[in-house]
Amino acid sequence: MTIKISSGFPGGNILIRGVNGNRIELSPDLRDSSAMWFYWYFEAEFDAPGEYEFHFDSSAIGTRGPAISTDGGQTWLWGGGKLEDSEGFRYLHDGKMKKVRFCMGIPYLQEDWQRLGLPVAELCRSRRGRSVELFTHGAGPHKYFFSARHHCCEMAANYVIEGVIEAARRDSRPDFTLFIVPFADKDGVENGDQGKNRKPHDHGRDYSDEPIYPEVRAIMELILREQPEVIVDLHCPWLRGGATNETIYIVGVEPYDAQKRLERFSALLEPESKKGNGIHFFESDNVPFGSLWNTRENYTQGKTVSKWAIGLPWKPLSASLEIPYANASDQTLTPELWRTFGQALWRAARKYTDQ
Ligand SMILES: [Zn+2]
Repeated sequence: MTIKISSGFPGGNILIRGVNGNRIELSPDLRDSSAMWFYWYFEAEFDAPGEYEFHFDSSAIGTRGPAISTDGGQTWLWGGGKLEDSEGFRYLHDGKMKKVRFCMGIPYLQEDWQRLGLPVAELCRSRRGRSVELFTHGAGPHKYFFSARHHCCEMAANYVIEGVIEAARRDSRPDFTLFIVPFADKDGVENGDQGKNRKPHDHGRDYSDEPIYPEVRAIMELILREQPEVIVDLHCPWLRGGATNETIYIVGVEPYDAQKRLERFSALLEPESKKGNGIHFFESDNVPFGSLWNTRENYTQGKTVSKWAIGLPWKPLSASLEIPYANASDQTLTPELWRTFGQALWRAARKYTDQ
């Protein structure tokens, strides 16, 4: 029984600590992150059917086990198979497809974005020279800005972005312009980095007078030039468990008027999310500033786009949303459900600017 593990493809990330028959010892590759994180994505090539066990030495498996793809990463299913006595999962290989991909969540890369076939402009070039996408739709006076992947491992956010785009393209009122930056840390997404807690600070803490990442500088310029009324930045929380990692929520802010705007938006989003068979958002799940992880200490490295934007003179709605990796309460999340939530997000944003 032999197995070959590789990660030499977009988004790939794994460290192999040992292979002993059907027992494989692995770690997430932290690269330039200053703290332990949990992103990994690898391909296994099996030469024989059988039961395999993949063991990690840190938190690495979400509530629905690994996501599994047998078509080279184009489609994914939650695999389950979580080991109970160890941080890892069990996989029964039936011998049909030699190569199987495994990831801690359902990946979303540039090639997934390209499958949408949207016309796209270049926001800027990344530090490694990659083209960073800017999608614009419409040319009306009400302006909306959405971004994802300031922390590059937070891929569930992109399926929500797809739903926002679907709903905006069907929106019959031509009075708006939508701006989307799907990959705020483009290099990190394609290289398969954690991104979170990148040294000296990550893209999500770079909103200052002298940003070090070209994407951040370009987003700041875009927002200052276009002055969107709504600015929504999408994130994913920790891998699982705890009070806040298995629900969708909005991150509360400190200034009273900015927090009031978030509350007005939350009150619009909750009923929109309950239309149809989507993921339900509850305003009561929001994490107020000063509670749980959302304290001043969390932002000592710098400002997020949302924290920076709440201080802008035209007083936009500036919201950070957290989208779980695998489940919202007892609901197992899928690309379809994330997209449905994105549609609700768009409708709520429109209602917000109508008021
Ligand atoms: Zn994040």
